[in-house]
Amino acid sequence: MVPAVPLAVSAAPRRSGLREYFANIWRTVASIFEGLSVTMSWMFRRPATIQYPDKIAEPVQEMLPESYRGVLEVDLQRCIACLLCQRTCPIDCIQIKVEKNPETGVREITRFDIDMGRCMYCGLCTEVEDCNALLHTTQFEATMPHPDLLVLHFVKEPVPVAKRATAPPRRAPGSILAEVMPGFGRRASMSRWQGRVRREAAAEAPRAAAAPAEAAPEPAAPAPPKPEEDRKDG
Ligand code: SF4
Ligand code: SF4
Repeated sequence: MVPAVPLAVSAAPRRSGLREYFANIWRTVASIFEGLSVTMSWMFRRPATIQYPDKIAEPVQEMLPESYRGVLEVDLQRCIACLLCQRTCPIDCIQIKVEKNPETGVREITRFDIDMGRCMYCGLCTEVEDCNALLHTTQFEATMPHPDLLVLHFVKEPVPVAKRATAPPRRAPGSILAEVMPGFGRRASMSRWQGRVRREAAAEAPRAAAAPAEAAPEPAAPAPPKPEEDRKDG
């Protein structure tokens, strides 16, 4: 037996189909104008926002407090190569290499790289006791067209390890970073990265060409001629 279906679930009076149709259109149009009225009201007010980075009075980097944790930089003239920052970093962003110059016998920093693509800006490396070489700058625009470009190479040529007593005063924060990574803070183009890749490949090519020649074994000495009698016997 088929159960009886109730004819109406609500006691509210029902509009005719045509009235309901035009009522829906009216509600839609009214809600659109209600939303747009808020937008339109702001068109004639003084804007509370500014266009970044083109229309600002001074760079934001200069307005940030010194304690701001931006991109790292190291003043190698003050680095005593204690390697504590490298050991402190929990995710191995810092790579330092110290070698003894075979001619002068002086210890030199031959590599000081910081991978800002991995860095989580925790600041642990800058809190190493007695380190006045490594710090966070106020630079935050660390954008690059390729992750490889986020590895900062601070050593251009070997730098003698500093002595704490004779270390020079620290340079202005941010000035070293501006030399190492001039693309930061501006919109770096892909061509900049491609240019760097080309330069590195060109520098690597002579070394790669020389390597097989150095590793090639000495040509084998010619076998001594057999004695005349042996050849006859054979
Ligand atoms: S930057 Fe500071 S902590 Fe790191 S190796 Fe140099 S002196 Fe040591
Ligand atoms: S800020 Fe933190 S994650 Fe970045 S290099 Fe220093 S210790 Fe490593």
